[in-house]
Amino acid sequence: MTQPMIQFDKVLKAYGALQVLKDLDFTVDKGEVVSIIGPSGSGKTTVLRVLMTLEPIQGGTMYVDGEPLNRMQANGELVDASAAHIRRIRSKIGMVFQSFNLFPHMTALENCNESPIYTQGKTKAEATEESMRLLDMVGLADKAGHYPSQLSGGQQQRVAIARTLAMHPEVLLFDEPTSALDPEMVGEVLEVIRELARSGNYTILLVTHQMGFAREVSDRVCFFDGGRMVEQGLPDDLFGNPQNERLQQFLSKVL
Ligand code: ADP
Repeated sequence: MTQPMIQFDKVLKAYGALQVLKDLDFTVDKGEVVSIIGPSGSGKTTVLRVLMTLEPIQGGTMYVDGEPLNRMQANGELVDASAAHIRRIRSKIGMVFQSFNLFPHMTALENCNESPIYTQGKTKAEATEESMRLLDMVGLADKAGHYPSQLSGGQQQRVAIARTLAMHPEVLLFDEPTSALDPEMVGEVLEVIRELARSGNYTILLVTHQMGFAREVSDRVCFFDGGRMVEQGLPDDLFGNPQNERLQQFLSKVL
């Protein structure tokens, strides 16, 4: 059996008294494209944020490529992993946010170059060559010198994707990547994600409200409700023959 790329083992996440992830067990295989759907507040974004170590968890363990992200075994006890260990594991993961999060005072090229130069120690020439290749891949080579304010939302999100790819992640997390976009810009961003999904080069976890897209690109779709994964399956099964009543209700509202 191959080892999953991502594994949540009884992960508990709470904000004060509010339990957002309730003993979540969840795995994603290497190279798999998985979409997470579900009502607002069901914990979808939290799954990505805890995996990105943007939020601490209160129980359980997350593994990336078999290595524990938050806890390690030491003398038979679970202890928090060192910062260096977390950084190393975390470097396998890249996240694309709803709101792009580009640095406003940097051009598209500088946004892409920033981490390769400052955290990976690449030379400016090396980083620029790679960033230009990636900007070209997302169709924006001619906008390399533009600042975010000079770009449309769809273009900014495509720069954000190129910037994430510049760090050579194995896992890509997309948090509702098109929900902040005007409708006419959704397609160009989905096209880039579609290409990444098809390439087979990445393990992809996508939180989305775009049901048609989730059905089209995913190997598997997971329905979350109330901090739990309530149902999962092949896209055609989950959308075409939902079993859980909450999923049936949800789909009747959004489809
Ligand atoms: P979804 O992505 O499914 O809409 P989220 O993962 O964003 O849901 O949120 C799950 C729950 O956690 C919601 O009830 C939300 O209000 C709550 N929550 C999210 N972030 C915070 C936070 N920083 N502080 C307190 N509550 C939060």
